[in-house]
Amino acid sequence: MRVETGIFWVIRGEIVFDRESREVGEGEDFVNYSKSHFDMWEKLAAGKKIKGRRVWGDFVTFPRGRLLYDVRARRYVLYADKCVTPSDVRRIKKALGIERKRCEVRVDEHYSCDKCEEEKRKLTEVEENGFCLQEGYRLTWYKGNDENVVIPETLSGKNRKS
Ligand SMILES: [Zn+2]
Repeated sequence: MRVETGIFWVIRGEIVFDRESREVGEGEDFVNYSKSHFDMWEKLAAGKKIKGRRVWGDFVTFPRGRLLYDVRARRYVLYADKCVTPSDVRRIKKALGIERKRCEVRVDEHYSCDKCEEEKRKLTEVEENGFCLQEGYRLTWYKGNDENVVIPETLSGKNRKS
């Protein structure tokens, strides 16, 4: 049986990918794409023009993921950064040629873009400093100045970590 594998990035909403198609080998449990994101970054994305601008950063900057085939479960597994949206997933499946195939999407911490890393860093700071307000996805640190006024700590300049 022939199956598809691949890697991808979502860069400015566009799916940048490479795919490999091959027969399942005897005794093989998983069929995996043969190369790493690191290997393919230069070839597929670095310095290319996407949405009219050159791509900066490196292989971990943008949301990314990988498609494998699970031979025993007879389905595909798509590992993805948590920033990858359901609409991205539809387009990724199409690009990798598995539009109508059984596929489980797994959010994997291993695939963590700059935005995810920034969020993790902020959450760690909250754990260490103990006080912040979360508004949607935005975390803001506040310091009570008097009874009525609460201003962002970054504006007050006090209690700031040096
Ligand atoms: Zn992310």
